Amino acid sequence: MLEIKKITKKYEGQTKPAVSEVSFSVKDGEFFTLTGESGSGKSTLLRLIKGLEDADSGEIWFDGNLVKGPSKKLLAGEEGIELAHQDYNLFPRHTVYENIQYMIRSLTNEDQEKKINELLDIFRLQEYRDKIPGTLSGGQQQRVALAKALSGSPRLLLLDEPFSNLDMILRAEIKAELADYIRQTKAAVIFVTHESADALSLSDQIAVMKEGTVRQIGSPETIYSKPITPYVASYFGNANIVTIRNLEKLNISATKEVSPEAKVCIRYEDVELAEEGNAMLYAKIMRKDYFGSCYRLEVRLDRLKLWLYTNSPIIKKGDIVPLKINTEKVHLFDK
Ligand code: ADP
Repeated sequence: MLEIKKITKKYEGQTKPAVSEVSFSVKDGEFFTLTGESGSGKSTLLRLIKGLEDADSGEIWFDGNLVKGPSKKLLAGEEGIELAHQDYNLFPRHTVYENIQYMIRSLTNEDQEKKINELLDIFRLQEYRDKIPGTLSGGQQQRVALAKALSGSPRLLLLDEPFSNLDMILRAEIKAELADYIRQTKAAVIFVTHESADALSLSDQIAVMKEGTVRQIGSPETIYSKPITPYVASYFGNANIVTIRNLEKLNISATKEVSPEAKVCIRYEDVELAEEGNAMLYAKIMRKDYFGSCYRLEVRLDRLKLWLYTNSPIIKKGDIVPLKINTEKVHLFDK
């Protein structure tokens, strides 16, 4: 449904392109996430897809048509693609209800009412239905903007950091419902977030961006368990990046041809405290941090430094503990 071919965009006055030679495609009904640090080009890419920016080179195809930038179109913006802005884009003199109604004003009254109520429920907005945007908090306005973007049943929905202004509890509640609702509407979504946990939990496909380029595209499971670079591994957290040389003693180095300087990723959750007889190594606890649901330990054995989680409250800094590593999960980087 959407195909992006080697798209590049440099803003005037900037030395580096905001987006450089990016290519990917999105299928019908797919939940596609763009994630990466701030400034990696995610929002620019969304604006290019919607046709709000002119690309320097490359092409974007939506439903078989070439997306035209604002310099080639009288009214900027591609129809059938809805962008929920970070700056909300609401009608200031209209109520929440009327804002959501705008996109579906051609439906029968009954159908409008049904759809609007559904959206007001999902976004916990029933009590604000008759309020105007200026009297609402940032988080409430953000929810109205999302409801408005979803109401017109777009073929492709572009969501730019849609939960950025919602507090943790509301965010957790709304996120799952929003994802279920979108799947039911069969709209494809490009979801921009810098929260790696949201990317992993909601997406069919994830593209990790850095400095205007896509570093890896894959399913959440692939991106997390088979990251192609240490950068991608660390982006999703919980990554011990160690050299083969530092694992020598453990006898878990991969094949003989691999250089001792090659790096592997061992996720924190794949290092565990072991029973005495089962230990692969004994390491000293250098740090112990409380994380609420568990503790995080930093352990050391010579040059090998690892982080792991534990529920054991009795272990303390300075203890020497038996450990095992889930060797099947140790991942050797391609690069
Ligand atoms: P992200 O959404 O990942 O935070 P952006 O697409 O907003 O990244 O920005 C990518 C790069 O382009 C950044 O270096 C940013 O400063 C620059 N940039 C974004 N918008 C503009 C603009 N309108 N004019 C000039 N530079 C811009």
